[in-house]
Amino acid sequence: MKELIKDLKEQLCWASREIYQRGLVNIGEGNISIRVKGKNEMIITPSRNDYRMPMSEDMVHMTLAGKLVEGNNKPSSESYLHRVFYKARPNVNCIIHTHSPYTSSLSIQHKGIPVIFEEMLIFLGGSVPCAKYAMAGTANLGKNAIQSMGNQNVVILANHGSIVVGKTMEYCVNTAQLVEKMAKIFVLANFSPDIKKIPEEKQVDFRLQFVEEFSTV
Ligand SMILES: [Zn+2]
Repeated sequence: MKELIKDLKEQLCWASREIYQRGLVNIGEGNISIRVKGKNEMIITPSRNDYRMPMSEDMVHMTLAGKLVEGNNKPSSESYLHRVFYKARPNVNCIIHTHSPYTSSLSIQHKGIPVIFEEMLIFLGGSVPCAKYAMAGTANLGKNAIQSMGNQNVVILANHGSIVVGKTMEYCVNTAQLVEKMAKIFVLANFSPDIKKIPEEKQVDFRLQFVEEFSTV
């Protein structure tokens, strides 16, 4: 068990460095968590996580009911958001929440991203919806997020950022970056009424790849 916990904390450190280097978070914002399989527990980055030099001992081990198991730091203030997904979706093992700039620029317009690239169907399961607004740190933030996410793995949080859930940390890191790239392309296209979506009938095969490999529902 000790070895497993050590490995999970190291995965959080790796993901912290990756999402910082990829420009998806600033110091102290966003958060990452990982499920402790076989237990009703997770490990989450601390409040004000230092993404440049994350330390295993800074990570906070807690139950899905919100009780501290081990850790010297305060857990991220969004720990409730993470716990909601672990409780509702047994196949979710990792979660990344960011305030990346282009995705957040859509969040302040309460807009999602339509299916504009095939990768979205394969890795995200389709379009990216935007959840109804709820204050950070509240139970409603989690409720609205999971409701809007439907049977996919990503949702934009109104006036806030986005959340990605998945089976592996590598998937979540890459997907958080993909969402930001899609948001950037969509924003740069300036919401032109001329944006062409991928036709519905062409979406089915790509979406099947998502269902087989990445879906957490
Ligand atoms: Zn946040």
